[in-house]
Amino acid sequence: MNLNFIPKKYQAVLDEVYKDSDGWWAYTKEGYFFEAMECHTAHEYNQVELMKVIRTIRPCTCKSCEEARKNNKGVVKNV
Ligand SMILES: [Zn+2]
Repeated sequence: MNLNFIPKKYQAVLDEVYKDSDGWWAYTKEGYFFEAMECHTAHEYNQVELMKVIRTIRPCTCKSCEEARKNNKGVVKNV
């Protein structure tokens, strides 16, 4: 899958992006979420719409992200 339409700084905080018959799906890495969706998963019908929500990725303070941050893996940076 060609993900060149997503800037590198966002690819760095995305766990997975793929397209299926329902459209585009994106998952943030632990510690981040889509502010526009208020969750860790985004579903859109095309790349333009997907990029709109990807631009809203922010550090997440939900329980599981805080837990992941505690257990890991360096500092969560702003995007
Ligand atoms: Zn979270």
